[in-house]
Amino acid sequence: FDMFVLAFIERFFRPIYKKDDIVLGKKLGEGSFGSVYRVSLARKPSSKPADLVLKKATEYGAVEIWMNERVRRACANSCADFLYGFRETSSKKGAEYWLLWRFEGEATLADLMQSRDFPYNVESLILREVQDLPKGLDRENRIILTIMRQLLFALDGLHSTGIVHRDIKPQNIIFSEGSRAFKIIDLGAAADLRVGINYIPKEFLLDPRYAAPEQYIMSTQTPSAPSAPVATALSPVLWQAFPGLRSDNSLIQFNRQLKRCDYDLVSWRQSVEPRAGPELRKGFELLDLDGGIGWELLTSMVRFKARQRISAKTALAHPYFDREGLLALSFIQ
Ligand code: ADP
Ligand code: MG
Repeated sequence: FDMFVLAFIERFFRPIYKKDDIVLGKKLGEGSFGSVYRVSLARKPSSKPADLVLKKATEYGAVEIWMNERVRRACANSCADFLYGFRETSSKKGAEYWLLWRFEGEATLADLMQSRDFPYNVESLILREVQDLPKGLDRENRIILTIMRQLLFALDGLHSTGIVHRDIKPQNIIFSEGSRAFKIIDLGAAADLRVGINYIPKEFLLDPRYAAPEQYIMSTQTPSAPSAPVATALSPVLWQAFPGLRSDNSLIQFNRQLKRCDYDLVSWRQSVEPRAGPELRKGFELLDLDGGIGWELLTSMVRFKARQRISAKTALAHPYFDREGLLALSFIQ
């Protein structure tokens, strides 16, 4: 009942946006399914944010509007703040869907990871107090852990709603300057398991560098929301451990090696460790810290069968995330 009341109230009070209100700014992205611009409003009433992002999408925009509306109602904090979506028919190219969000910030996680200073460039953004630790593994781990916790938290919100994103990757994680937290963007390839929207795969929508190995996701008959591809969300951990994986080529190579090992991370490790260079060896060393909890978390998330992967919620409860407590203790001593 509450949902009806809310929907009714919203119907009258939620600001709407029209094509003529929108003043195009810089282009932020261009994909085969649409273009993304930073935009402002021609006349700015105080009830609307001044700084926005517009996506002009193809027919897939209809699904993206659906997903964003669901997120707005069910787990607004997981994703960029969605404002409005509508069908726009005046374009020469035929009908488009226009979607508007609040402009959350300048940088995606991918942008931040490009910096040589990563993860320290993220530290001042997300940690309230400056860390008194010397630069080194412990301090880096604490930053990575905070990024991971924010990511998994957002992902768990989506999954609890029944939405599987299917394109989680650093390019689709925006740093929200207002919330001082990472948020998920780009629900263009998402599937809604509660109602079955988009659960038939559109393979071409998925990014081969990051997509989970399975082609089909579970149907609406599934009683609970599934543990969707968490594997790729783990890239901050993987990439801190293995900076070599940050380039596209080595990521593709890693995927190929993993496939050859039947997506078994343990046998992948066995195959590469004997002839590992110093960088790879340092990576394993890092994941082996504290009795190997990092490695344990990694292997429970990167699994071929979706049912065997731990969910975002379970991952959040993993001892890996107690590390902060461990660090605080060692700091006091
Ligand atoms: P695409 O389908 O082109 O991948 P995205 O939704 O991922 O579209 O958006 C493309 C880019 O636009 C993102 O990588 C990000 O840099 C920027 N962007 C998207 N949404 C926002 C937002 N709400 N705030 C700030 N930047 C955004
Ligand atoms: Mg994207």
